[in-house]
Amino acid sequence: MPAVVLLAAALAVAASHALPRSLSGLIGVGPYIVLLLGTAISAWFNRSRALIMLASLLAAYAGYSLAWDLGPQSFAVTAVLTAFAVLVPFNVLLALAFPERGVRQYRNYRWLLLGLAEILIVIWIANAGRSSLSGTAWRDVLDHWLLRSPPTPIAARIMLAAAFAAALARTWPRRGLKELRREPRPLDIGIAAALVAFFIGCEWATAPLAFGAFMSAAGVILLAAVLQESHRLAFRDELTNLPSRRALEERLTGLGPTYAIGMIDVDHFKQFNDAHGHHIGDQVLKLVAARLAAIEGGGTSYRYGGEEFCVLFSDRTLEQALPHLEQLRKDIEDYRMAVRGGDRPKERGTGSRLRATRAPEKTLSVTVSIGAAERDATLIRPALVIRAADEALYRAKRAGRNRVMR
Ligand code: GH3
Ligand code: MG
Ligand code: MG
Repeated sequence: MPAVVLLAAALAVAASHALPRSLSGLIGVGPYIVLLLGTAISAWFNRSRALIMLASLLAAYAGYSLAWDLGPQSFAVTAVLTAFAVLVPFNVLLALAFPERGVRQYRNYRWLLLGLAEILIVIWIANAGRSSLSGTAWRDVLDHWLLRSPPTPIAARIMLAAAFAAALARTWPRRGLKELRREPRPLDIGIAAALVAFFIGCEWATAPLAFGAFMSAAGVILLAAVLQESHRLAFRDELTNLPSRRALEERLTGLGPTYAIGMIDVDHFKQFNDAHGHHIGDQVLKLVAARLAAIEGGGTSYRYGGEEFCVLFSDRTLEQALPHLEQLRKDIEDYRMAVRGGDRPKERGTGSRLRATRAPEKTLSVTVSIGAAERDATLIRPALVIRAADEALYRAKRAGRNRVMR
């Protein structure tokens, strides 16, 4: 997605000469619209990192436009560009350093103060150019090799590279079990890509049109990432990374005349929690979910709720689905899960010594019961098929658990 947006921005710049004059006003307000919309939507969706970056970009674009009106060669343009080329990635770096706590956090007045301080400093420096005394001093500062521009000053490049690396590092798979690794979050990718767009814009800052186009591109990339992330929050289960019940409900409305459904419930999971603790219970649920995600035969697994899951086989009959459900049951039964034990010594010295002698993980296993049903002449609605599968699951529990029933 970011690549497409960047390409579109480049094409827009290339094609802009062909635009009629009447549209040239639009080019100036375009970035404002995109960046304002992005700022508002990330505030509404409570995504503070996107909000911080979008607000920074908005301030940068507004400052640049105002300075440009004073004259393209003016000291103000250089000052504003240099300052924002450093400050935008600086703010991103700062935002990435703190955990995402959402926008409505009482400590966030600090961000507001920081933003105000940054804007005041930039205005002050940009205005200093008019005074003959402090003006020369600031000119000397901005002529330092670290800050010289255009194109993008070295100091800004260093800051940009650091912020880019920090955003990319967050998309890197963490250590730990392969099954539990999650796909990178859209916003981390979005922030990295928006920094690239911002960098291209800075490199092209002598052409307001190109600058505006790439600032808009950065805004569109972030906006899309915010929407994608919110979609994921709604349709993916946080704990297991499986599609959520809401995703299932939506899928159920679009099914054809043939499908089969399996309902899965972990056996004696309450006892399991009581014996090992909820923390271990959660880890086990994640591992069971990883097995469910790998189901074959055209099935898609969903977390239905708690320790209950649902596998949907669209365009498959029950006869076709049953062997895969049986295979799933057996896989989970045979699966020896290495979980981090809760009784690991906390203290560092003894901890590492003990860890060297004793395995720090314990191996556990669980079983599941499965009930399955398919659409037929009497079960004509998904809700009815699910109820029939639930009844079959109940029979599987009554018959002694760890089995598949229809
Ligand atoms: P049965 O074999 O009859 O299914 O016995 P059960 O103990 O599994 O019974 P039931 O399905 O009613 O139990 C659900 C239990 O699952 C209750 C709760 O302790 C546990 N559970 C549900 N959701 C979660 C979760 O997200 N994490 C953890 N750790 N436990 C959960
Ligand atoms: Mg249950
Ligand atoms: Mg259960």
